Amino acid sequence: MSIKGASINLRFETVKEFEIESERYLGALDYGVRKHLSHFSYHWDPDEYNITILGAGPLYGLLPGTKRLVGVYRSPINGILTLSTLGGASIELLKSGFDLVEIHAKCPRKSILVINDGKIEIIPYGRVPESAYALQEELRQEFMDRFPYPFRILGTGPAGHYTCFGAALSKHIKNGRFDRGSEGWMGRGGLGSVMGRVHNLVAIVFGGTHRPRRPALLSDSRRLNELARKHFSKGYMQVAYDATTKYRFDPNTGTGGTLGNNLFEAQSETPSFNFQMIYLSREARQQLWSKYIKPHFFQPFQQDTIEPKKQKTCGENCPAVCKKYRGDLKKDAEPYLWGGTLAGILYMNDAERLVRALDDIGVDAIEGGAQVCCLMEALWRGWIPLEDAGIDERPNMDPDPGCYSRADSEKNARIAEKLAYDLGLQRTKLSTHFREGFRKGVRILTDKYGHSFKDIAVYSCFGDERSNAPNPYWNPGFLMPSPFLSRFCTYYKEGFFEPEEYGAKIADSIVSELINENFGLCRFHRKWLTGFVGPLFKEAYGIDLDPYKFCKELAARMIEYDHKSYYLPAPWESERVIDLVATYASKLAEAGNETARNWSDRFVKDKHKTALEYWTRTRRAILAYFGRDANI
Ligand code: SF4
Repeated sequence: MSIKGASINLRFETVKEFEIESERYLGALDYGVRKHLSHFSYHWDPDEYNITILGAGPLYGLLPGTKRLVGVYRSPINGILTLSTLGGASIELLKSGFDLVEIHAKCPRKSILVINDGKIEIIPYGRVPESAYALQEELRQEFMDRFPYPFRILGTGPAGHYTCFGAALSKHIKNGRFDRGSEGWMGRGGLGSVMGRVHNLVAIVFGGTHRPRRPALLSDSRRLNELARKHFSKGYMQVAYDATTKYRFDPNTGTGGTLGNNLFEAQSETPSFNFQMIYLSREARQQLWSKYIKPHFFQPFQQDTIEPKKQKTCGENCPAVCKKYRGDLKKDAEPYLWGGTLAGILYMNDAERLVRALDDIGVDAIEGGAQVCCLMEALWRGWIPLEDAGIDERPNMDPDPGCYSRADSEKNARIAEKLAYDLGLQRTKLSTHFREGFRKGVRILTDKYGHSFKDIAVYSCFGDERSNAPNPYWNPGFLMPSPFLSRFCTYYKEGFFEPEEYGAKIADSIVSELINENFGLCRFHRKWLTGFVGPLFKEAYGIDLDPYKFCKELAARMIEYDHKSYYLPAPWESERVIDLVATYASKLAEAGNETARNWSDRFVKDKHKTALEYWTRTRRAILAYFGRDANI
């Protein structure tokens, strides 16, 4: 048995089909990393030369969580090799007749790549889409007749064509209609911008009637259940059901999904006001939670989404039903924190305005949201004249709960919504400064307005000029010098550790997460699927694969690539980021953590020296785990 791929050159409109023996196809990420290394893509700027690989996982089959589409490309945001994934979308890719597509070069004009039941064509589109959502609807109507079977649209928004931080959207189509609430984003790393600016693609439309080329075991429920019973003492659907309680509905917390869980767990530590809440006293943070975030942000989510069970799957037959929604808006933690509380918007219905804007322009909600939040704080501080932002009222980004009111949430949403549209559509001079990324943007603002904008910007540095906005947690794990920061490839459980121990924990998490990412598995199923990969390979392919060892080597190759590209993690340069780590240490020190106390005391004595030492030693430990010396 073999899998089938297609190498598409958009400039010359050529397609080379190829086959790989199934036993040699060990994941789309593995394939993509080898491809980028063999094409020396690290020699170029990722905006000038890039290769996009879209692939299904080798364990695709009846097991829930095995059908994520994996995208591999070099990120125009942070400069390193990266990936993003889309739940359920391998179904339509495999039906289109291919397991894997490689996209090279650039269309002469804005175009749509169509992969229809084994045939590939490039159709001119001719313009930049005005909205990611409107494009989905337009193309659904246009392609419905050509695809009288399941299909998907992986589309861009304007941000994918005008900026380096565009994302790619795909709404699941069921019986010819969009299945409201089940849409997914390939958000992190700027895939929308790789499509829009490197390939000149507006969308990729794919679907068909082909049968997946996978070993029989993977579509045989009886044999899969036998295997699951051997390993877990119960059938696979029951294992998946039990392992995904948190994402469906947890009776212990009374909530579900990423947003519900994050808010329930964080409570008074919910990130807000561009992370300025870290400077508040414990009591003031508690007041923010009990007076605003809990009644006006968390409870509306509970009432409008969790209680009426507004939930969907990504397109897979999956008992986790992790997609929570209200109306036409999906409710996930990252967009609603960066597009809500962190923007000083503490009322859920106001946050929907900003999230809708970020979605509409087709932007990575973390990267775009972090830029909006930084601008909001700068405007509040008076660092940017209001007229330069095209507004006539100042946002209120004061985290003090005594200085905040209902009207501030509404006002902040109004301003942030405008800033988001400006960024995506590049329609003000101010927004054009961010076209090539957050870090370059704050440098321009500093030159122009004379304030140290980097000190209120929340990002990790890569190389001399690129950066990466973190997932919205008050946890150093998302700021540490890991080369995989744009995903969950880090250690973020509570705790403060010596750098050597922390580096090893982060490296171990990188490998475990890469097992899911590389094999196209949903990380929400990690409790059972990650450890099941080895037995599945053995039974399905007859291969004795050690997934951990394999993915550790894969991570090492990705690090090798990054070293060749010179976009390596660089020390923290933002005061806010250093404060995030220092205040986290002091918070845990108060709770009795001795390691945190030691480091917290050192942060108080000499914050910058301590930060550099902690960062450097952690980086050394991460690299040592993968057999490399730090080259900083
Ligand atoms: S947990 Fe969610 S994203 Fe993952 S497979 Fe299930 S429905 Fe899809």
